[in-house]
Amino acid sequence: MFRHLALCCLFSFTLTIYSAAELRAAELTAGVAKVDITDMQAGPVNDRSYVRALVISDGTTTAAIVTVDAVAIGEIGRIDNEYLGKVRGEVEKTLGIAPANVMINASHCHSVVRTDVDELTVQAISQAAAKMVPVQVGVGVGHEDRIMENRRLQLADGRQIDVRHAYSLPPDEAVAAVGPIDPQIGVLRVDTTEGDTLAIVYNFACHPIQGVPGGANTADMTGYASNVIEQNMSDGTVALFVQGCAGDINPIDYKDVDHPRHAQTLGNLLGLSTLQAARKIETSPDATLRVVNETLPLPRADLAQRIIEMEAEREKLVNSLTGTSLNLKTFLPLVVKYRLSEEFPSYYSHRYLHDKALGRSDLRHLDIENRKNMARYIDNIHTMEQITRVNTNIRLLRKHQADLVDGGKRMIDVELVGLRVGDFVLTTFPGELTVQIGKNIKQASPHEHTFVAGYTNGYIYYAPTADQLRNVGNAQEDSDCVLAPAWQAIYEAKAAQILGKL
Ligand SMILES: [Zn+2]
Repeated sequence: MFRHLALCCLFSFTLTIYSAAELRAAELTAGVAKVDITDMQAGPVNDRSYVRALVISDGTTTAAIVTVDAVAIGEIGRIDNEYLGKVRGEVEKTLGIAPANVMINASHCHSVVRTDVDELTVQAISQAAAKMVPVQVGVGVGHEDRIMENRRLQLADGRQIDVRHAYSLPPDEAVAAVGPIDPQIGVLRVDTTEGDTLAIVYNFACHPIQGVPGGANTADMTGYASNVIEQNMSDGTVALFVQGCAGDINPIDYKDVDHPRHAQTLGNLLGLSTLQAARKIETSPDATLRVVNETLPLPRADLAQRIIEMEAEREKLVNSLTGTSLNLKTFLPLVVKYRLSEEFPSYYSHRYLHDKALGRSDLRHLDIENRKNMARYIDNIHTMEQITRVNTNIRLLRKHQADLVDGGKRMIDVELVGLRVGDFVLTTFPGELTVQIGKNIKQASPHEHTFVAGYTNGYIYYAPTADQLRNVGNAQEDSDCVLAPAWQAIYEAKAAQILGKL
């Protein structure tokens, strides 16, 4: 053990002296690297996508924190279901890092990455492991609430729907309230003992799907944010974005049709807010490094009844469509005319006055008929919009129900990680947790600086709250979900248990 030397007469502090062996044991070392994974053959490229790796060790435990600018770790997009196992196997064989200690998070941006992304990931981890140096770490919390919104809309009739490009929004008057966001940016700063920054790991919850004008390949807002951080800390800093509980969080102005949507505007704000927090962090020699990795079985949903109900709803909607004399070509000019002049829409006012003087009301009758037809036509459009939402949801429900039947298993195993580096505590889940779940876990945690990552070590689609799953309003994440509502309580209890071990 160490000795305390109290130099009471000269100084009023206690000096701690470690032996050389103890010093080595109590020291963290780390290395970072980033490798370009952009598929340059897949069309125009706006900005590059990367895999970034931070390898960190206390001499006994070694962990790799890896972030990928890609939509998911398996299931959807370019990264296949063999990726995680391949990367871990190779890293264990060549570097001796335990598979359970390799954590890979997808930013969930929709970039197109190279098909050899597994080899490139191993390269990034190997490069990071090859240049490990003694480090100090520190944790901080940033704030950003300008770039995102909750995409679930609470409707006046009690249902919930979500904001997507895949279908239309309901009429404004149907929307009663919106859901929460989580403005926290969890920041881990890793500095060399000389004081240069090596890595900024930052956790935040928002779908990085704003895109860039022209639609070229992009790592989206979180790619831009990482670039801003890397360009404004020490040379060689690697900024690793760890996606949080973004299941129901969209970029702000996601449905804007009046201005070109650009991920850079939002990403720069996120980068600057992260920098603000990162610069305030004081690193310390605290060498705590812990990794907990557990598998939790969660109940799968049987979606058969939901499909029957939704098909019945679609049938009802289809049957409610009524014929009108109008088509799109005749409807649109009428709408303009009837909005421009409430009282005299069909012709100049003098003609109405002339008719009135002669005791005729032909124009008035025409207006009554047109207004009735326009109202019907608008009702039909709203019904059509609802059908587009129902169709999208039925397709997703059918896909997941077929998987359930094929798989024949009522439970699904998920891998959960708890990671502690200094006072930075992170717990992960392999799906799209909605934001309230992250807030619940943070609030229940015994650690002040607890952050939650979805999209990690696998992908099991959306993971909405039990309440959200009970909704019958066709929010897409409720249909793009394989979990039964009971999953939430089971998972939150397990997450608390894992946090307790850190
Ligand atoms: Zn998503």
